[in-house]
Amino acid sequence: MNVQDPKGIEVRTVRALKDNYCYLVHRAGSALCLVIDTSEFAPIQDELERAGLRLGLILNTHHHGDHVDANEDLVRRWDAPVYCSSHDRSRIPNAVRGLDDGETFEFDGMEIRVLAIPGHTRGQIAYYFPQAALLFVGDTLFSMGCGRLFEGTHEEMCHSLEKISSLPPQTQVFFGHEYTEKNGAFALNVEPDNICIHARLRAARESMSADRPTAAPTLAEEMRVNPFLRLKSPSIRRQLGLEGARDIEVFASLRRLRDVFQG
Ligand code: ZN
Ligand code: FE
Repeated sequence: MNVQDPKGIEVRTVRALKDNYCYLVHRAGSALCLVIDTSEFAPIQDELERAGLRLGLILNTHHHGDHVDANEDLVRRWDAPVYCSSHDRSRIPNAVRGLDDGETFEFDGMEIRVLAIPGHTRGQIAYYFPQAALLFVGDTLFSMGCGRLFEGTHEEMCHSLEKISSLPPQTQVFFGHEYTEKNGAFALNVEPDNICIHARLRAARESMSADRPTAAPTLAEEMRVNPFLRLKSPSIRRQLGLEGARDIEVFASLRRLRDVFQG
């Protein structure tokens, strides 16, 4: 668990399963909160109780079990509505509202905007809180990596990452999994001279050895270390032998290499 308070909105990170992150989000001073992704009932419920929060809304980033499995138990306990992508409404337990790209809604004074970011799955969406510049990306982007393509094409994922990159650079990004260690090893492989990667790995190891979640970086910070957001990097292109290639070719090559990367 960690608490952050950018401009009056608090985010509590809940670790669940092997390496999942779920997030409780609420206005500072308000006991009403929402949860983003529901990997497991017990750790979410424990954190709600510890923090004295009431759950009023459940948001899912996509339909995979490790992001929705506690919907049913949380609905039974809190009677909170479940929102998700309109693509996923029929395949996410207890969903009552489907959301579309660009749609905005409000919860307890917090504005939330929906961004369709397909690639990992067809219905993958991000939740963006413009007031505090917070972004919850599910399994599209990770610390120094990106999600595997289960239902989307390289083009779709590449476009989704561009869409994320076009948000304000101070936007804080919250990932669906803790994959820093392995992604960092891959990032160093394709960009050995990038010293920022070492710094990210060092900070992440420090957090993990203190039994804390790793810090959510800003978009600007992520763009300095994440190869999938650095398709124009001459160093990466040289490493791949793709100096004159289009961005999409660099992306596809990185994604294929990452798929078989053993670490
Ligand atoms: Zn997933
Ligand atoms: Fe996942």
